[in-house]
Amino acid sequence: MDEATRLQYLQAMGIDVWVPRHQADSEPMAIEAHETTHTDSQQAWTDLQQQVSQCHSCDLCQTRTQTVFGVGNRHANWLLIGEAPGQNEDLQGEPFVGKAGQLLNEMLRAIGLDREQVYIANMLKCRPPNNRDPQADEVAACNGFLQQQIALLQPKIILAVGRIAAQNLLKTQQPLSRLRGTQHQLDGIPLVVVHHPAYLLRSLTEKAKAWEDLQFALSIYQTV
Ligand code: SF4
Repeated sequence: MDEATRLQYLQAMGIDVWVPRHQADSEPMAIEAHETTHTDSQQAWTDLQQQVSQCHSCDLCQTRTQTVFGVGNRHANWLLIGEAPGQNEDLQGEPFVGKAGQLLNEMLRAIGLDREQVYIANMLKCRPPNNRDPQADEVAACNGFLQQQIALLQPKIILAVGRIAAQNLLKTQQPLSRLRGTQHQLDGIPLVVVHHPAYLLRSLTEKAKAWEDLQFALSIYQTV
C-alpha cells in the first residue's frame, strides 16, 4: 500500500496522523501551537497516571497488586470502558488482557480497528477482591479519574463494555438486553453498550449479538 493510500485509509478510520514538520512548512505557527498543546496534554496524562498510581481513596488500594490506569492511543476517537481489572489485569497492569482481552482484540479487528488505535480503560483502576462487582462507593471514589481521562482524550464514541460498566456509566439498573442497540450519551459523547468479551467466552452463541453491537457502534461512529 503506498503512503498516500495508507494515510487516506487511516484518516477514514478516524486515526490521527502526525505529519513531520518539513511537510507543513507553510504553516509553522500552527504546527508549533499544535506541538505545545501536544506537550501539555502529554504532561497532563503523566500527572494523572501518577495520581492514580498513588491513590488511596477507597479500600481497593489495600488489596491491589498495582493500579491499572488504561492503555492505548491517547489521540484515539474510540474509548472503551470496562468494569474493573480482573486477576490478569491486576498482575500485568493493563486492562483487558488474557483470553477476554484477545477476544476484545478480535472484536475490534472485526470493525477494522487495532487495539493500538483505541483507548481502553476501566471504571475502577484497582481490582475488587475475587472479581466481585464494584461497590457504589468505589465507583464514586474512582469516577473523577475516568472523567479526566475522557476530558483529555475527547473521544468521538464510547463503548461501554459489559453490563456493569453500562449500568454504572448510564446510572441505570436496566438489563443489558435493554441497553444494547441504542445510542446513549455520556457528557454529550455518543455511547454504545456492547457485550463483555468474558461473557462471550462463556456463551459463544452470543457472539452474533456482539457482532451486531459492533456494527451498530460503527454506524453511530460514521455519523459523528
Ligand atoms: S479503585 Fe480508584 S479510587 Fe479506589 S484506590 Fe483504586 S484508584 Fe483509588
